[in-house]
Amino acid sequence: MSSVEIDLHKKLKQYFGFNQFKGLQEGVVKSIVDNHNTFVIMPTGGGKSLCYQLPALVKEGTAIVVSPLIALMKNQVDALRGLSSSEGIAHVLNSSLTKNEVRTVMKDISEGTTKLLYVAPESLTKDEYIDFLRSVKISFVAIDEAHCISEWGHDFRPEYRNLRNIIKRLGYDIPIIALTATATPKVQEDILKNLGITDANTFKASFNRPNLYYEVRPKTKNVDADIIRFVKQNQGKSGIIYCLSRKRVEELAQTLQVNGISAVPYHAGLDAKTRARHQDMFLMEDVDVVVATIAFGMGIDKPDVRFVIHHDIPKSIESYYQETGRAGRDGGEGHCLAFYSYKDIEKLEKFMAGKPVAEQEIGHALLQEMVAYAETSMSRRKFILHYFGEEFDEVSGEGADMDDNIRNPKKKHEAKDDVVK
Ligand code: ADP
Ligand code: MG
Repeated sequence: MSSVEIDLHKKLKQYFGFNQFKGLQEGVVKSIVDNHNTFVIMPTGGGKSLCYQLPALVKEGTAIVVSPLIALMKNQVDALRGLSSSEGIAHVLNSSLTKNEVRTVMKDISEGTTKLLYVAPESLTKDEYIDFLRSVKISFVAIDEAHCISEWGHDFRPEYRNLRNIIKRLGYDIPIIALTATATPKVQEDILKNLGITDANTFKASFNRPNLYYEVRPKTKNVDADIIRFVKQNQGKSGIIYCLSRKRVEELAQTLQVNGISAVPYHAGLDAKTRARHQDMFLMEDVDVVVATIAFGMGIDKPDVRFVIHHDIPKSIESYYQETGRAGRDGGEGHCLAFYSYKDIEKLEKFMAGKPVAEQEIGHALLQEMVAYAETSMSRRKFILHYFGEEFDEVSGEGADMDDNIRNPKKKHEAKDDVVK
C-alpha cells in the first residue's frame, strides 16, 4: 500500500496516541512507506524513532533497525511492546540471546508478528542470521545514529562501515533509512557515500535552539569560584557541569558540596550502582547539579535542565552542541556557559598525539573550529548553525539576541584580551 491509501494520522493516534506529527515526521513517514531511500537529519529529541517505527508498523514484513547501543534498543523495544498487545511486535537480536530465545525471535518474524527487529551492526555479520533474514520479508532497514559510519562524527564505529555490504546481501531493493542528529555536511556526505545511496529523499530539520543562551567566559585560575557564583545565582535550578577528566569531576563536585551546593559526580570510573544512583538523584531532583564527564548524557531526558556549564572546552562544536542541547528541552530557559582557555586546547591536542595520523588531522580540524567559536565576536548561534550548514539571520532570526556577543558586543581589543593563553 502506498502512503496515499493509508490514513497515517489515524495510525499515529492509534499506535502512539499523538494527534499530530512533529516537525518533518509526516514527510519522512510517507517517504518510507513509499519505499524510498530516506535520509533524516533532526536534532536529538526531534522524534526520529517514530519516523521508522510508524512505517514499520503499517508495512508488510519486518523492519530491521540498526542501533549502536544495547540499552537504547532495549528501551525502544520495551516502549513498542507497551503500545501493542503482542510481545513479539519488536525484538532485539544479539549475541546475548540463548538458542531458545533466538528461535522465538525467528518464529515471530516468520509468522509476521514482528514488525521491528533491533540489531547491533556486529550481530548482522553472523551468516546464520543473514541466511535467515534473506528468507523472510524485510520492509526496510533503518540505520539509527547513522553518524557512527563517519570518522568525522563524534562516535565513529568501524562496524557501521560494513552495513552497505550486509544490506546488499539481504536484498538489492530493500529501502535504506539513515537517521542522525549530526548536521555537519561532512558527516552527511560520508553517510550517503558509505551506504551507497545517491537517490535518498533528504529531510533536514533546523538545529536552531532559540531558547538556549550561549556564553563563553575566559577561564582563569578562579574558574571554580566563577562556577560556584553562577550556580548560587541559579539556586534550585537543575544543571550539568561538564569536565574533561574524572579527577576534575570528583574535585569540582567536592568543592561545590563544601560550598553548600547539592552536587554529585558522574563518570565512567564510578561503579554502575553509584552511577545509576547519582543519575536518579539528579532526575528526581534530590540534587541540583551533576558534575560529569561526557559519559553522562546519552539518553538523559530531563526536560528542565536550566544550565549546562563547560568547565573544559569540548573537542568539537558537534560535542558542544550535543552537550548544551541537554538544557531547556522543555522550551524554557537554558543557559550554556563555556569556560575557555587556549591552554585547554593545547591539552586536547596533546591527548591526540598518540593516535593515527588521519585521526589526529580530523581531531585537529574539529578543535580549530571550537577555538574559532570560543574566540569569535560574532553571533554564536549564527556560528553554530553555519557549522551545521544552516543559514541564520543574526538580526531577525529566532533567538538572535540569546548570546553574549550580541547582548554585550565586545570592542575588538577587548575581545582579544579575553583570550587567556
Ligand atoms: P530522537 O531520536 O530524534 O532524539 P525520539 O525519537 O527519542 O527523538 O523522540 C523524542 C520524544 O518526542 C519522545 O519522547 C517521543 O515520544 C516524542 N515524540 C515523537 N513524535 C511525537 C509526536 N508526533 N507528538 C508528540 N511527541 C512526539
Ligand atoms: Mg534517537
